[in-house]
Amino acid sequence: VGALNNWAKLKKNYECFFMVADWHAHMSEYDNPQGLKKYTIDNVIDWLSCYPELENSTIFVQSHVPEHTQLHLLLSNITPLGWLERCPTYKEQLREIKARELHTYGFLGYPVLQTADILIYKAHVVPVGQDQLAHLELTREIVRRFHHIYKKKIFPEPEAKLGGTPKLLGIDNRKMSKTYNNYIALSDSVEVVRKKCAQMVTDPQRVKKTDLGHPQVCNVYSYFQAFSQQQTSEIRKVHEYCTQAKLGCTECKTRLADTLNRILTPIRARRAKDWPEARVQGILAKGTKKAREVAGQTLAEVKKLIGLY
Ligand code: SF4
Repeated sequence: VGALNNWAKLKKNYECFFMVADWHAHMSEYDNPQGLKKYTIDNVIDWLSCYPELENSTIFVQSHVPEHTQLHLLLSNITPLGWLERCPTYKEQLREIKARELHTYGFLGYPVLQTADILIYKAHVVPVGQDQLAHLELTREIVRRFHHIYKKKIFPEPEAKLGGTPKLLGIDNRKMSKTYNNYIALSDSVEVVRKKCAQMVTDPQRVKKTDLGHPQVCNVYSYFQAFSQQQTSEIRKVHEYCTQAKLGCTECKTRLADTLNRILTPIRARRAKDWPEARVQGILAKGTKKAREVAGQTLAEVKKLIGLY
């Protein structure tokens, strides 16, 4: 949603491409890929349900545009291993995800594939969350190295575009991720949203309702800041009631669930009736055609420059 909010501003100045990163998903779900096709379609339906006008943009699935993997391979050849091993998200995921074997060649190269995803369209701006800033810096380093080795500048050094809420944690205060199962989905029912909000971690120093709260360290408050943007009075009230111990955390979380459900109600309605799979497949086919045209041109330019034919 953060990226889509950015899109509303970016589309005035840039042509926008939206990619479902199924190859990236496969890097961590390689031994459990059965759900990937469904997640791919669900992902696109989520986007379209939030912003129906996206139908006229270029939306495609990463694995339908093979040029990404070809550029990935060529960039892998010039990317020093140390750059990837130092990546903070790589180290964090190896530490946090114990249920899967992620010490793989592919997973280490995850940011190089991301770099190929960006460069194959010569993107100038990439809407990201704060956790992706290190990857984008790596992309810029790879661009500089590529230009240095092949003595010609053909790629822009892409800039990050952070949204109004650059970082939103999962309900357990860890990075929000499907892998951690700590997210609130746009497709979640009213009841599921309530349940997930009730599980959210709050200010650890606030044990009783009479304790004064610290909203600035509370994840629930971050969600109010992210999702009550049209209702600043609600954010102010939560802040005031929390710091003066007039509002208990349980009630606060119920309020948050109501806020989220209010936002999600029209999205759920559009999800249920406006986007049958056949319509979504048509949008993806159109997007793939456009993406492959652009990606094909970039790959041809790269191959010529580096001496392949
Ligand atoms: Fe967080 Fe709300 Fe509890 Fe304050 S009252 S600590 S904002 S959940």
